[in-house]
Order: sequence, then structure tokens, then C-alpha cells
Amino acid sequence: MSEVKIAWGLGVDGIMRHISEVKKGKACDCVCPSVNCSSPLIANQGSKKAHYFSHKAHTGCGGESALHLAAKQVLEDSASENLHLILPEIHGTYSSTDMAGETVEKALVQVPNFQMVKAQQEVKLNTALIADVVSQSTKGENLAVEIFVTNAKDEVGERKYSAVDVDAIEIDLSVLPWNVDRNELKVFVLKTANRRWLHCRKKCQLEKKLKLQVDNEIIEINRRYLANLYTIAKSLSTNLNIPNFTWPSLTVNKELSNSERFIVSREPKVTHFNDDWLPFKYGYKGTAVVEKKVNIDVVLFVVNNLRQVMTHSSPTLLISYDEQMNIDNLQFNLRWKNIDTWREKLEKIANAELIKKEQEIVNRTQKRSAFVQYFKNANETVKMQILCKKLGLRQPEQLSKYVYCWNSSWDVWRTAVWVYKIHGNKGYIIDANDIASDPWLESLLGFSIDYEAYESRRKMVGFWLKKLFELGYLKRVGWTKYEVESSQLKSFLPWSYIR
Ligand SMILES: [Zn+2]
Repeated sequence: MSEVKIAWGLGVDGIMRHISEVKKGKACDCVCPSVNCSSPLIANQGSKKAHYFSHKAHTGCGGESALHLAAKQVLEDSASENLHLILPEIHGTYSSTDMAGETVEKALVQVPNFQMVKAQQEVKLNTALIADVVSQSTKGENLAVEIFVTNAKDEVGERKYSAVDVDAIEIDLSVLPWNVDRNELKVFVLKTANRRWLHCRKKCQLEKKLKLQVDNEIIEINRRYLANLYTIAKSLSTNLNIPNFTWPSLTVNKELSNSERFIVSREPKVTHFNDDWLPFKYGYKGTAVVEKKVNIDVVLFVVNNLRQVMTHSSPTLLISYDEQMNIDNLQFNLRWKNIDTWREKLEKIANAELIKKEQEIVNRTQKRSAFVQYFKNANETVKMQILCKKLGLRQPEQLSKYVYCWNSSWDVWRTAVWVYKIHGNKGYIIDANDIASDPWLESLLGFSIDYEAYESRRKMVGFWLKKLFELGYLKRVGWTKYEVESSQLKSFLPWSYIR
């Protein structure tokens, strides 16, 4: 077991002595300074190792409080020499926000000066608080000093000092070497060791002063906001220099039975602001007329105070003003409140619109199925008449051969494909496979959907589309896929190029 090394012993006269300040061996006349130990020490002052005290008899004591006691002694001695104790800087800050939510902050730093005239160890400040040292300055100020060697003061310790409202610092000696001598210790304690405030009355005073300054500044800023708002309110009711408002719109979204959607929206606008503005804490309240007939309330307020704005149950226009915004129409944010009746009215309008649109869908479907019936029942000549009318062409003089797989003549199926898939569909992609099984063409022509008939149609369409591609009406974009290019050509006869 290694010997416990101590650098400071307590002399018989009650003064702390460094190992360098005593005689060798038992003649040092020192005891261990640790509380509950006080056993005799021996000064080891050999020529090889650093000098140290050790306990004369083995006690199990570590001599922990030696440096702590020595530091207190150094403070007491320094005070009798009227030396300066360096104190930590005092940093005071205070911040608060103005009406618009902008922060106003002020900060001050003070470098305090403390010349000691007296220092006393172990001073009882109240029943629960004994300071390591209390020192008085030349100016008569009291300062408690806590020496930190193994245990730093926690928040509880700090609160004890604020409770008695005594200035207190903590000096951190935890990183010092064990054998630091008297002069070194003096420099550490008075100047260089880390130190911090546990409680600082000046900091509180500083912050009170800063609070007063910040609060006054905010009052001034808020006053300016309200003055600007009053100018704006006046400009609204006199109709002069009206700001460029972006009016919020009310919208209702509806879905039709064919899953298409539509929107009905209204943008209510104030047509006249009355000149009856009354101030409240964050702005002005007044009244106005919407669309020349509906009376509403208006609240004009500084942005960021929306939650504080109280409204009645009548329709109200909230205009929040943000001075920080530079572009004119962004300075104001408008929103409506208490407009449930307006919304209900819009909902009714949208429902009426919905019924009308649904009827149109029914009409369209009926018209289409009537056309399908008519076309299907017509003979080949009439079918050609119908298709040619759609294209504005004269029909062929002679009807071509009937094809089983299409359930129609060559003229008819080609013209039907041209009319519904190619004509006027520039940029549209068509596919021979799709056309061969197209439900709309099937509903018109009533062709067989069995596999053989489908295969025949697919090949026929494929050949024909290839031909149209060679003629420059289609662009090839895949094996069976084509894009419609110049389908507007009126002079083209779809039924030509039969073989
Ligand atoms: Zn001891």
C-alpha cells in the first residue's frame, strides 16, 4: 500500500504550514489537518523524491482537507495584507418581445474590484449555511468565498446564498497539484484559479436596470405600431391610399358520380369601411360593408396577437398588419371569422351546381346510347352517311365487301376507326391491339369478341396503320403503337387504300 502524501500540516500554533516551511522528521511539530484525524505527522525531506508529510502511525486517513484548509488560511493572510481578490465578470442580460413578436435584448458586462481588508474562516450565515470564508472589502462590501477541492456547490448551495442575499463566489482548486506551495497557492486563490458567482447582488441590480430600459423601448415600439395602424384605419375609411389587399376566398369542393371534381368559390370584398374605429390593446376595431349590402365587423391588429383578438358572433374581417414585410400587399393578412351562414349559402349553391352537372352527365349518357342504338340498327349505307357527315366528306359511290370479323364492310370499319381514333387526335397514341378490342367500336359495330375474330381484326388494323404510317399520317413509336401526326387532312378518304 502506497503511503499517503500530504503537502500541508497544521502547526501546534494552529497555523497551516507547507512541507517546505518545517523542520525534518518528527521535529516538524505538525499534526494532520483533516477533521477527525489530528494525528502527528512526519516531514519526509529526502534528496531524491519530492518532500511530503506522512502520518506517523497508519490511520487510514487521506489528508483530504489539507489543501482546502491551506487555501482558507491563504485568504485570511492575504486580507491582512490588503490584497485584491479577482472576482468573475458580472454579465447581465434582459430580453422581451414587442407586440409584433420581435425580440429586444440588452446586455452589460461589469468587471468588479475587490480589495480585502478582512477575512474570517467558517462564518455562520444562518443555521444551514456556514461559509468557508467571509471577506470584507475596502468599500465595506461582504463576500462569501467557497473553496472547491473535491465537492463543487450545486444549485442547492447557490439557492442558500440567494436566500440570505449575500454575494458569494466559488474558487475551483480541484485541478491543482497536491504539493502546490504557499506562493503558488496564493496566486491560484487570488487570481488564476477558475471562479464563478454563486450569488451576485450586482447582477440582479444590473438586470433590473436593463429590464427598465428594454420595457421602455418596447412601449415606444408598440406605440409606433398603433400609430401606424391608426393611419391605415383612417386611409381605409376615407378611401384614400387603400392598401393592396389579397382577399381570402371561400371554396366548396364537390365530386361528381363519374369521379370528376369541381370547385365553387366566392371572394367577398369590403366595398366600404366606416369611420368608427375604436382602439383596443393591439389595434383598432371598426365596421364595414361587404358587396354594398352586408354589414360586418373589422379588427385591424398587429400581427402575432391573433389569439388575443376577441370577436362577436357577427361576420368579422381580421386584418393583421406586419410592419416587417416590405412588399405592400404582403403587409396584411386577411381572414374571415364567424361566416358560417356564408359558407352554408355557398354549400347550397354548390349542391345546386352538382345536381345540374349530374343531369348533364345523364343527358350525355342518354344521348350517346340513343346514338349507339341508331347507328347499330342502321344499314351499311346509312352508317357510311353518318360517318362521312362527321368528317364532312362525300361518301363512296360503291360499298365495299362485308368483313365477318368486323361485322361491317371495309369502308365502315376503317371510317369508324378514323373518325373515333385518328381524326383530330394529333399527338394521341394508338395501338392495333387496343383498337381490335375497343369497347366503343364494339358497341357501334357489334362485332364478335371471340379470339379468332379478334386476331383477324388485330392483323387488319396492323396492316392499315402501317400503311397510314408510310403515308405520313402516323409516326411509329412501338411495335404496334403509333402516334397520330397529321390527322386533320380533310381530303384523305379513310376507305381508300383497301388492298
Ligand atoms: Zn490525517
